Amino acid sequence: MKIEVDLHTHSNYTAHAYSTIYENVMYAVKRGLKGIGVTDHGPNFEDGGHIWHFHNLKDLPKVAEGVHLFRGIEANLLNPDGKMDTEFVKPHKLDYIIASYHGPFEGIITKEDLENAYLNAMDNPQVKVLGHIDRGFFEVDFEKIIKKAKEKNIAVELNKHSLELDDTYRGRVIKIAKICNDLKAPVVVNSDAHFCTDVGNVENIFELLEQLDFDCSLIINTSFERTLKFIGGEQ
Ligand SMILES: [Zn+2]
Ligand SMILES: [Zn+2]
Repeated sequence: MKIEVDLHTHSNYTAHAYSTIYENVMYAVKRGLKGIGVTDHGPNFEDGGHIWHFHNLKDLPKVAEGVHLFRGIEANLLNPDGKMDTEFVKPHKLDYIIASYHGPFEGIITKEDLENAYLNAMDNPQVKVLGHIDRGFFEVDFEKIIKKAKEKNIAVELNKHSLELDDTYRGRVIKIAKICNDLKAPVVVNSDAHFCTDVGNVENIFELLEQLDFDCSLIINTSFERTLKFIGGEQ
């Protein structure tokens, strides 16, 4: 099992990532990917991308070296109302938003605040992916969040980096995968690459899913065509 599109990659427009978009594309070619999401951190993260980066994503070609480029942002959840740092960019300039939490931000203090931030952000029609919901100081009610994600046809991310962080995060990823499997919720498997050699590198997630006897038909981004439709808003 492999992915055809990696919907979560960082370029060096994020200060703590180290490769250009073109280098990411070249590793996508090496791994046989058909597409990548260019999803640098939103500007409210200390080392997130400059707003002009997002305004000007239209200048990226749709396809480079045979790899489709999806124009995205890994937005920061800022408060329990689901506000994100995307308001500065007109919706038509982005193909999709990954809603992620990289706190602490002043507006999100408690577990309930973070749950509400996820739940309310999903009412934004451009949110197509919930990024690494395993992260944070507290464990949110995964089931509540995944139920709404399914209702809204938003994919829950299984993130390669989370598995590598420590046993707490690994445990949370396992819980998330099991709940998605039980609820038959849509999932994407992403690298969250911060260096080009990691683009499309998600073997550890597939090893885990095999152990869990996971229903792989729930994974959107193993198919380029399915991903294209999904990002375009189709079921
Ligand atoms: Zn993130
Ligand atoms: Zn990321």
